[in-house]
Amino acid sequence: MKYILSLDEGTTSARAIVFDSDGRPVAIAQKEFPQHFPKPGWVEHDAEEIWAAQIGVAIEALSRAKLAAKDLAAIGIANQRETTVLWDRATGTPVGPAIVWQDRRTAEHCERLRADGRTDFVRSRTGLPIDAYFSGSKIAWLLDHVPGARAKAEAGQLAFGTIDSWLAWKLTAGTAHVTDTSNASRTMLFDIHALDWDDELLRILNVPRAILPAVRSSSEVYGVATAPGLAGVPIAGIAGDQQAALFGQMCFAPGLTKNTYGTGCFMLQNVGDAPVASRNQLITTVGWTIGGRTTYALEGAVFVAGAAIQWLRDGLKIIRSAEEINALAATVPDNGGVYFVPAFTGLGAPYWDPHARGTIVGLTRGSTAGHLARAALEAIAFQSADLLNAMAADTGQPPLELRVDGGAAKSDLLMQTQADLLGIPVARPAITESTALGAAYLAGLATGVWTSTDELARQYRVEKRFEPAGSPDRAAAVHWARAIDRARDWAAP
Ligand code: ADP
Repeated sequence: MKYILSLDEGTTSARAIVFDSDGRPVAIAQKEFPQHFPKPGWVEHDAEEIWAAQIGVAIEALSRAKLAAKDLAAIGIANQRETTVLWDRATGTPVGPAIVWQDRRTAEHCERLRADGRTDFVRSRTGLPIDAYFSGSKIAWLLDHVPGARAKAEAGQLAFGTIDSWLAWKLTAGTAHVTDTSNASRTMLFDIHALDWDDELLRILNVPRAILPAVRSSSEVYGVATAPGLAGVPIAGIAGDQQAALFGQMCFAPGLTKNTYGTGCFMLQNVGDAPVASRNQLITTVGWTIGGRTTYALEGAVFVAGAAIQWLRDGLKIIRSAEEINALAATVPDNGGVYFVPAFTGLGAPYWDPHARGTIVGLTRGSTAGHLARAALEAIAFQSADLLNAMAADTGQPPLELRVDGGAAKSDLLMQTQADLLGIPVARPAITESTALGAAYLAGLATGVWTSTDELARQYRVEKRFEPAGSPDRAAAVHWARAIDRARDWAAP
């Protein structure tokens, strides 16, 4: 039996999972690391704290599996995307904080770029809207605010990386300064057609090429680990967490789509060998590159999904745990005409309205907490359906099924509601650690543990499949659209 160590470095915790060659998890370890909020809208990590947590859980997972480095065929990395680290090449020490994807400090910079009329150019090269989420403006901020950073960067003394690059550097003691195409495609500096850093974008964002990592495929040997406990193991797979999850859900063919139901939702659809430009505010991104072949994806996010359930728990206090929403919703046969748009922080694709706010409509004297619970679950399903419909509009091809994971995908009621709304089956896999599994698969493909995605696809097991009951309820969709209209523009200045 061959084993693969998968490092799943998330926004709040570092996880490590050891998989066997049947794609089954044999041991797992997880550790949270500190979040730093120095000012409103600023979110920072300490890259050294991430490294310490990540190497710690890697060793712990190995020991729980009763394995040693020599038993491992490879290491795979999946990481929180866009988060930006700048470090000194000579010492390997970060020269500033890691600026987290959620951080809004560069919103004004991005606003200026938009005002300068760069939107269409940036979108056509990178597949991205100009936004502070992506790494480009965060790099510029560090270069302009860390004393001496720009001069050192120009002189080739600094290295930039997203967290994948940082971990690969630390694992190899600075031998590998690499990233993969999926992570590069989130920087706003990367041409997703040419698959290279783009000089024009580098000029617009004032980022010197000398700091950038080499862009490699998502599945190849980047270097060999030297870190104690892992010495000698090749690092052989890298992908951003959502792309890794798409791969771990084995969405290898165009049209296959996964949705992760967490605090928010992340939906990605494989669109094949050529990028698809979105007319519905979705993001065009690299899925992965394997053996010289790049697979692209469309991506959309729901800002408030599981968070709506948390609000019923912590804000309204009508449930004590997230799981309780299911029993409460089951006290009523339907939503009783109640619709809940949880636009607490505005609406994402396909609406893109920062001024929308949370709205509950259709209340009558007979409305109960059960109706609201049902409306909250339906809201998650409706928002996800809006994304999937936007993808179908962009590709011209409605998908055949939706593959799901994440904490709220545990709700059978939510999954059945989703299937009913979409009119296609919803498949919940046996292994819902899609992100870690995807990174393991990428690493195993590069090191001979598996030979092809066809072989991997044979490992796909569905735990439960939710078949749609009849065709989608048009009246409900119309009500949802009207509820969205009520929520829109509410907080406009
Ligand atoms: P994240 O990675 O974003 O922290 P998770 O994938 O851990 O999120 O999912 C957590 C979310 O799942 C929470 O918002 C919670 O409301 C929801 N959740 C967890 N268990 C259930 C359940 N049994 N039924 C419905 N929702 C659930």
